[in-house]
Amino acid sequence: MTTVYNFSAGPATMPKAVLEQAQAELLNYNGTEMSVMELSHRSSSFINIVERAEQQLRDIMHIPDNYKVLFLQGGGTQQFTQLPLNLAKGQKVQYVNTGSWATKAIKAAKRLEDVTVDVIASSEDNGYTSVPAFGAENVDPNAAYLYITTNETIGGVAYHDIPKFDGVTLVADMSSNITANDYKVEDFGVIFAGAQKNLGPAGVTIVIIREDLLKEDKTLPDFLSYATQADNESMLNTPPTFAIYVVGLVLDWIASRGGQEAMYANAKERANLLYDYIDNSSLFVNNVKVENRSLTNIPFLTNDPELDKQFIAEADAAGFKQLKGHRSVGGMRASLYNAFPIEGVHALIDFMKAFEAKHK
Ligand code: PMP
Repeated sequence: MTTVYNFSAGPATMPKAVLEQAQAELLNYNGTEMSVMELSHRSSSFINIVERAEQQLRDIMHIPDNYKVLFLQGGGTQQFTQLPLNLAKGQKVQYVNTGSWATKAIKAAKRLEDVTVDVIASSEDNGYTSVPAFGAENVDPNAAYLYITTNETIGGVAYHDIPKFDGVTLVADMSSNITANDYKVEDFGVIFAGAQKNLGPAGVTIVIIREDLLKEDKTLPDFLSYATQADNESMLNTPPTFAIYVVGLVLDWIASRGGQEAMYANAKERANLLYDYIDNSSLFVNNVKVENRSLTNIPFLTNDPELDKQFIAEADAAGFKQLKGHRSVGGMRASLYNAFPIEGVHALIDFMKAFEAKHK
């Protein structure tokens, strides 16, 4: 049987040990004679699962006590939609446009009539191949927040240093590099991320929010209110129980392998291997500015769309799955999240070398 490596941008490769554990516990969770899927979200067995997952995430990300951790639904998309509703009514907000996902977040904020959206920097002019430069002179401390996308999943651009300005609340879409970085939670007011890339299956979205940003707003529907969600310990309605359970297993797996520090080191090792090869290749290129290259999403191309198609088809047949770039940009993309094995990167490079030898 061919070894399959899954380079999907999300939902993505899971740790095999986690899938095996979920399988082993599927019919009888912890002596309950029930599956986790069958447990009431109010049962002590499930409450234990959530509390343990939260504590594990707090330990792994070193989340300070004055931050709430929420397990919500609706993905990153719901988060960048509800964020301005919660934090910015009647105020100005500032955004940095680093690519597709920042663009979507800006569009969502612009829909709100009583929020003024100021895009302080954009890399649209260079095709989103870098993080745009900006400084304190561009940042308004009176804005409700400054919004960044720490890693653009489609363009493969990432922040390696988080911009910090006194008195400015930084909020971040960390969907594609949560726990695969060396950021400090205390540099952010809000962090959000869907689980389906670095932390588990789709269906649960993690929100980490500083407590002073949790403001009651009686005009906001309860379901969209961070304050109400926090008051209800993420249980305002039925949470995605099975997804939260699997995220808990992935967090245990991360902790057992050295935590976020190890995940970050692994991400650097995987990415550097692939970038080194691409940069020395006479066939494949990556167009992102070196200092801004993503560790988790690596786009590359041959500069010949037909040859790209052929590469993707041959790679797929050889077990290298989901290497097709996002439909909006074409080419190829290797997504290398926490669970992606380093052997898969070596194997991909060997395959790319053989392809290059035939086509250069
Ligand atoms: N932000 C980023 C950076 C993403 O990569 C994605 C999904 N690929 C989203 C937001 C949207 O997430 P979801 O599909 O969970 O709404």
